[in-house]
Amino acid sequence: MSIDNLAAERRQDYDGTSPFPGAEEHVPAGRLQIGLTGAIVIVPFAALAVAIFLAWGRGISLTDLALAAGLYVFTGLGVTVGFHRLLTHGSFTAKPWLRVALAVAGSMGFQGNVIDWVAVHRRHHAFTDRPGDPHSPYRYGTDLRGQLRGLAHAHLGWLFDKDTTPVERYAPDLAADPAMNRVARAFPALCALSLALPFAAGWAITGSLYGGLTAFLWAGLIRVALLQHVTWSVNSLCHVIGERPFKTRRHDRSTNLWPLALLSFGESWHNGHHSEPACARHGVDRLQIDPSAGLIRLFERFGWVSNVHWPERDRLQRRRAG
Ligand SMILES: [Zn+2]
Ligand SMILES: [Zn+2]
Repeated sequence: MSIDNLAAERRQDYDGTSPFPGAEEHVPAGRLQIGLTGAIVIVPFAALAVAIFLAWGRGISLTDLALAAGLYVFTGLGVTVGFHRLLTHGSFTAKPWLRVALAVAGSMGFQGNVIDWVAVHRRHHAFTDRPGDPHSPYRYGTDLRGQLRGLAHAHLGWLFDKDTTPVERYAPDLAADPAMNRVARAFPALCALSLALPFAAGWAITGSLYGGLTAFLWAGLIRVALLQHVTWSVNSLCHVIGERPFKTRRHDRSTNLWPLALLSFGESWHNGHHSEPACARHGVDRLQIDPSAGLIRLFERFGWVSNVHWPERDRLQRRRAG
């Protein structure tokens, strides 16, 4: 049976509460992938302990903090505006140089190469919270134990499974784009750059190797860890806790979770997003802060982007949940 038929069949059987068929059948990724993913996930987080130890009693320097904030915003918006709103959902059109710049910025966020990222995320939208979703917190069912296991899976565990998303099927547009292929191939180099940059800047600004090292820790590793966990929280928490003001497809349980709005650059208005995936603004209601949409608006003013899908009031009203 082809993957498509199998997925369609599983989809029909799914009742919305049981564990997904085959939930326990894990095919672990190859050793190399597990090693690499483990390093990418664990090293930045472990750096936090080292950094806290070094900073204990002396605090964190303004240089480290400013570099960390700057790189967090640069790479974070690369993921949200570039990888997600532009390349996954086509919610606007960008000038070719800006498209490449955003893809480069997103690649520096240590979340996989741009083409794979887009393919996985499109699959998440195609099968949200039902069998076929690469990272659904409902994989193990909706009882408490299943839910907790599911959260761990949706946050992090899924990265260690061999559950390859075929790029030819989910991202043929990017696979056929020479510029995006170049950016995807440069992913390891861009990750290295993402860590080397704060080290060099810290060294240059403070004039000491130690200054370079603490900048590497805070603005390199810890900044990467924070952005990773915020992004993964959108996959895990934003399908479990929060409000659901908008209608979504059957079984889709995406939520709006305000505490993450600023750190996620507006991506935690996830129910709004799942309800209208191609919309350039995810926080569509009053007081729903959405810095990614703000940046797209700015780009539009500069004339660097066009065809922006801004929310339409009538459409929005129709999508409101009873
Ligand atoms: Zn989602
Ligand atoms: Zn999306």
